Amino acid sequence: MKAVIKADPSPGAVLAEVDKPSPGLGEVLIKVAAASVCGTDLDLAYNWETASSTWGSPLPLILGHECSGYVAETGSEVSGVNVGDLVVVETHIFCGDCAACLADAKHNCLNMAIPGVSRDGVFAEFVVVPARACYVVKEGVEPEVAVLYEAAGVAVHATQRAGDIAGKTVALTGAGPVGLFLIATLRALGAEHVVVMEPNDARRERASELGAATFRAEEADEFVTYCQKYGKIDGADVAFDVSGAIPAYDLLFRALGKESTLVSVGHTTKPLSVNISRDLNVRVITWKGTFGRHIWSSWDIVDGLVRSGQLNLNDFIVEEIQLDDLPTRLTDVASLPGKVIVRP
Ligand SMILES: [Zn+2]
Ligand SMILES: [Zn+2]
Repeated sequence: MKAVIKADPSPGAVLAEVDKPSPGLGEVLIKVAAASVCGTDLDLAYNWETASSTWGSPLPLILGHECSGYVAETGSEVSGVNVGDLVVVETHIFCGDCAACLADAKHNCLNMAIPGVSRDGVFAEFVVVPARACYVVKEGVEPEVAVLYEAAGVAVHATQRAGDIAGKTVALTGAGPVGLFLIATLRALGAEHVVVMEPNDARRERASELGAATFRAEEADEFVTYCQKYGKIDGADVAFDVSGAIPAYDLLFRALGKESTLVSVGHTTKPLSVNISRDLNVRVITWKGTFGRHIWSSWDIVDGLVRSGQLNLNDFIVEEIQLDDLPTRLTDVASLPGKVIVRP
């Protein structure tokens, strides 16, 4: 079968012919219908040493982790997933028995595996994953929409971490795909004001179409003033950083009000300096992390928002490309104002 692989540590990825996998105990073979591209894919392809040192990625490796497809074959002892089902892969493949899994934190499994990162991924015609990592999508949702449940689920999980959103003023830095999903989700959940800082023009324009008040990088003071004007106690009630950029935190700590909540969604790769007294304590700010999707509540929330028409994932697709073209397109999809669908 055809697959996009990372063959060696040098920058980039290549199209290759590889063996079609077959499902073992508790596993299913998925015929990929749609995959989507994420920043992590680009990171692994172009910053291999840094990315692989975090994840211990093997070489050669089939890249890609976001996919939907139809179950083509089931291995032994598979239940709940049947041949012909449309499924989306939960990319945090969990073991089900560790302390985290037993504590309702499967997204943080101690034995986690991730397709396209620590095991063969989904930029291929077929992929094998454990049946327990499949979210079965009921009729009425197409594969190119279903595949976006994974990234939209990250946004939904972030809102679950923040608590009640209705009527709140929310500050947000970074309107890449997950940031855009987050803006749409916040609007659906009844946020009164969503205040967004995003330097990229196309992404900022998209954020504004979704109903956010948007600001350019040079408008930091205006961003803060806006949050202070509408937030309940002298600043935003809730904030999310989706950019992973260090300077975003200086801005968000200025924009946040007292008794507010900050959720870190983007992964910063360098340490950050925070004034605990000024930034956190005297304003009694709750600061939380988030990772992946809560399994399976984030998925069910996304599915509900999609089926009720509150979250139109179709609108977030900016382009569809063929698997063959992916190696040459990987770098330029990184700055687009939405998601790119890959068809095998
Ligand atoms: Zn991803
Ligand atoms: Zn586990």
